[in-house]
Amino acid sequence: MNTRSVKRLPVENGISGWEAISRRSFPVRCLDGNVEADWLIIGAGFAGLSSARRLLELRPDDKIVVLEASEVGKGTSGRNSGYMIDVPHNLTSSEYSSGTADATRLEMAQNRSAIAFATRAAEDYGMSRETFDPAGKINAAATARGMKLNASFGQSLKSAGEKHSLLDAAEMREITGSSYYLGGLYTPGAVLIQPADYMRQFAAGLSQRIDLFERSPVMSLRRENGSWTASTARGRVSAPKVILGVNGHIEDFGHFGRRLMHIFAYASMTAPFPADDFGHKVSGRDRWALLPADAMGATVRKITSGGQSRIAIRTKYTYDTTVTLSERRLSKMAEAHRNSLDARFPGLKGIAFEHSWAGRLCLSLNHVPAFGEVEEGLFSACCENGLGTVKSTLAGMMAAELATGTISRELEEYMDHPGPTRLPPEPFAWLGINSVIRLQELRAGREG
Ligand SMILES: Cc1cc2nc3c(=O)[nH]c(=O)nc-3n(C[C@H](O)[C@H](O)[C@H](O)COP(=O)(O)OP(=O)(O)OC[C@H]3O[C@@H](n4cnc5c(N)ncnc54)[C@H](O)[C@@H]3O)c2cc1C
Repeated sequence: MNTRSVKRLPVENGISGWEAISRRSFPVRCLDGNVEADWLIIGAGFAGLSSARRLLELRPDDKIVVLEASEVGKGTSGRNSGYMIDVPHNLTSSEYSSGTADATRLEMAQNRSAIAFATRAAEDYGMSRETFDPAGKINAAATARGMKLNASFGQSLKSAGEKHSLLDAAEMREITGSSYYLGGLYTPGAVLIQPADYMRQFAAGLSQRIDLFERSPVMSLRRENGSWTASTARGRVSAPKVILGVNGHIEDFGHFGRRLMHIFAYASMTAPFPADDFGHKVSGRDRWALLPADAMGATVRKITSGGQSRIAIRTKYTYDTTVTLSERRLSKMAEAHRNSLDARFPGLKGIAFEHSWAGRLCLSLNHVPAFGEVEEGLFSACCENGLGTVKSTLAGMMAAELATGTISRELEEYMDHPGPTRLPPEPFAWLGINSVIRLQELRAGREG
């Protein structure tokens, strides 16, 4: 018998604006009692719910249980900026693309496979354009360096045979209403999601065919007589095979220790303001989505619904060894968001932030997932390297294929990488990683 206690449970730092403006259409069920299943999935984010959907495709008659510590849409999957990106998006490379043309092509094929899977789900579960919008995205440049990074990213895309277009300052102003940007690089393949709505509608769509238990954190996992049993405060689930879609919390289940970087990302969302702000002069079109030309800059996105607009902004990263952040830290980050927003949209200075929050990313030094069968019958679909809308969707799909013994070229290619490399010991990792982040943020300058 092999019992393992889960060391730490997830914590939500701040209420995300996306969750606050999203509506939930189904009741929360908590696990109460003991359940036998064919499959147990732990974690109801992109990875967990995508593996549930893929399992239903592969094993339509099997009983699938999903256990979620919190509620669908409240965790990191429901609190991101909502960019499902098809082109390379390596946060540790300032212009996103760091591989050869072949590696870039493979990465794009994988990202697009995940986006196609998400698109089918969005259709099946009746998601509206406000939840799932295949509008593409712009890498916006506010400095000469940003323009160079866009040019160099454009070159990598061109070598891989990818379409993109360059926008000048006037076009950026027409789209966003802001004179802050010198130019932009538009790629058409990204989908913009309202992340909390997407997660909730995905879960609602699955809920007729799976058992989803929320507010049911797994506190221990035991293997006995060829079966796994996960225990929560009020019940147990036993299944021969388990898929872990818990991202960085995989370490708390005893795997990939000292190989994963836990990076907090921070975001704020404004209160609503009239979509027709002085004739759209202040913030431009109803909907647009900007990524920074420099990966360490600010992601800025405008949404409009029912004549009311909001802007969501994400800047700043920190590496932390704890899961809980202080109020002070969140306020400091909200201040940085305010400065970034005011610099871009001076006409919105009077519009307060309604929500500021943080969420945890999981990165590996060598930019690979923490994936595979980590013990007999126990599969990991973790470590999304900062692009979980896509990479965790893919990891969930691939984990379902691996666990069911489904042979596919996509799975073979997906598994063709080394494991995450080891981090330096603490406090050196903390010092080193935070110093690199700070230096890169300083270098990003006005992009942040
Ligand atoms: C501010 C911000 C902006 C971002 N922007 C983007 C973006 O634009 N595009 C993009 O692709 N990515 C973005 N990300 C990253 C993205 O949100 C993550 O990559 C993604 O959420 C990872 O999905 P996941 O399913 O792997 O993990 P998670 O979303 O972390 O889901 C794991 C789930 O496991 C559950 N869990 C953990 N432990 C247990 C346990 N013991 N028992 C039961 N359940 C457990 C958690 O509660 C959680 O719901 C952003 C993140 C942040 C914070």
